[in-house]
Formats: sequence, C-alpha cells, structure tokens
Amino acid sequence: MQGFNKYYPPDFFDNVDKTSSLNAYKGKHALGDRARKLDQGILITRFELPFNIWCGTCNNHIGMGVRYNAEKKKVGAYYSTPIFSFRCKCHLCDGWFEIQTDPKNTRYVVVSGARQKDEDWNPEENGGFAVHDTDAHAVPVDPLASLEKTTDAQKGLVKAQDRLESLQEVSGHYNADPFALSSKVRKRFREEKKVEKAKKQADDKIKSRYALPETLNLLEDDGEAAESAKREWDRARTEESNKRRKLAVEIASSGRVGKRPTSANPLASLRARVLENTGRQSNPFGRPKP
Ligand SMILES: [Zn+2]
Repeated sequence: MQGFNKYYPPDFFDNVDKTSSLNAYKGKHALGDRARKLDQGILITRFELPFNIWCGTCNNHIGMGVRYNAEKKKVGAYYSTPIFSFRCKCHLCDGWFEIQTDPKNTRYVVVSGARQKDEDWNPEENGGFAVHDTDAHAVPVDPLASLEKTTDAQKGLVKAQDRLESLQEVSGHYNADPFALSSKVRKRFREEKKVEKAKKQADDKIKSRYALPETLNLLEDDGEAAESAKREWDRARTEESNKRRKLAVEIASSGRVGKRPTSANPLASLRARVLENTGRQSNPFGRPKP
C-alpha cells in the first residue's frame, strides 16, 4: 500500500535519506496498484462506456455508462492530440474489448471485441437536413425568402451603382489632364513664393535697420494694419494730452492756494522780463519781425 498520510515510521529516517518520500521507503508507486503495468505504458483507469455495445464474446448487451477498470494506453496521435486506447474485460464473460478515442471526429470507436449499437441521430433518415451540410444547393429554396433576399440585393446594387458612378465622374474630372493641372498648381505656387520672398526681404530690411530681433513677426503692410496703427497712435496721444492737462490743472490750482508762488517759477519770471524788455506781446522768443 502506498503512503497516503503523513505518518513516518520510526525507522524511516534511519533507512532512507531525508529527501526521500514515503512511497520510496515502501517501494510503491504513488498511483499504487493502478501503476502495475506502467512499464508497458499502461495505466489502469476507470472507464465508462460512452455508448451501448454488444460483447463480441458472450454477445450480451452492455449498456452505456457501465464502468470498467480499463487499461489506458497511448496508441498514436492526431496532430498533437494523443489517441488513447481503453482495453476492458467484459463483466459477463472473460472476453476483452477495446475502445479508442477518435480526436478527428471527437468520438469513441470500438476497435475490437465488441460491436457498437448505432444510435447516432441521422437527420436525413428522419426527414430533416444534416446540420453540418455546407452544400447550399442541396437545400430546397423557400421561394418567398429567396425573393426577399434578391430584392434586397437588387436595391443595394442600384444604390451602390449610383454612388460608384458619381465617384467615377469626380475621379475622371480630376484625372483628365494631369499635366495641365500640375502646371497650374506649380505656377500658382511660384507666384505665391515670389510674393512671400519679397515680403520677407522687406521685413528683414526693417528689422536690420531698427535692430529688431530676427524672430519678431511684423504686421502685414496693408491698409488695415496702417489704419489700426493710426487708431492706436491717436488714442495714445489723446490719453497723454489728457494726462498732461490734468497735471497742469492740478499744479495751477495748487499754486493758487499759495503752495508755490508764481515768482518762484524761473521760466515765468524770465518770460515776464523778456516781455518787459521787448515790449512785444506775441512771439516773445521768435525771430524779431522786420
Ligand atoms: Zn462478454
């Protein structure tokens, strides 16, 4: 009997090295008696009959689902899938029968020693159609369904035809004379390039004259830019003159209250003196009139 639990007999550690297992100590395979034919590539497994059979030796009927201790063995391969054979001993006689897996058709087949009861559903025998039949012509056509299908297809075809024609027209229009189109485009490109170049030269000239940075973007030299610059200039001037006037009023009013006497203003006193000396009321600093 193989070791099932964790009981280690007292002499275990004396006789075997500590990395060994209980099974090795007892001289048994982990699968026990089921592995008795392992040297022949046979493992004993429990196998359940997947269908009804008749035993080939005693000719008895054995029902689906009866279980046997079968000898399982790999007998081949379908691509990378192994084909297993199950050899069972009839429970009613001493005969053996063998059943194999069939990976190609995903089923089991009786190889020898028995006869399989053919109970597969045959749709054609029962007035139906085979499920895996890919031959479409074999299926009778339902006239209404086929009419519906063809009508839909025709509608789609008409729609697609119109669209295709319009696409072809557009394509033909653009591909009628590639040379003319190309030269037209290239000519326009050259003209635009010339204008751009001239503009860049003018800008560079201005930048070098005023030592402006190379990366500075100058405005377009057109009427709109000039207009906007003029507006900005006028606005700034008005603002500045308003500010000065306000300041002058403030100074004048502060002078009236006596904070700063008028005589203290050197310019004013100079002007008064000049007026006195020349006796002229206007143009005090200008050239004397002849
Ligand atoms: Zn039998």
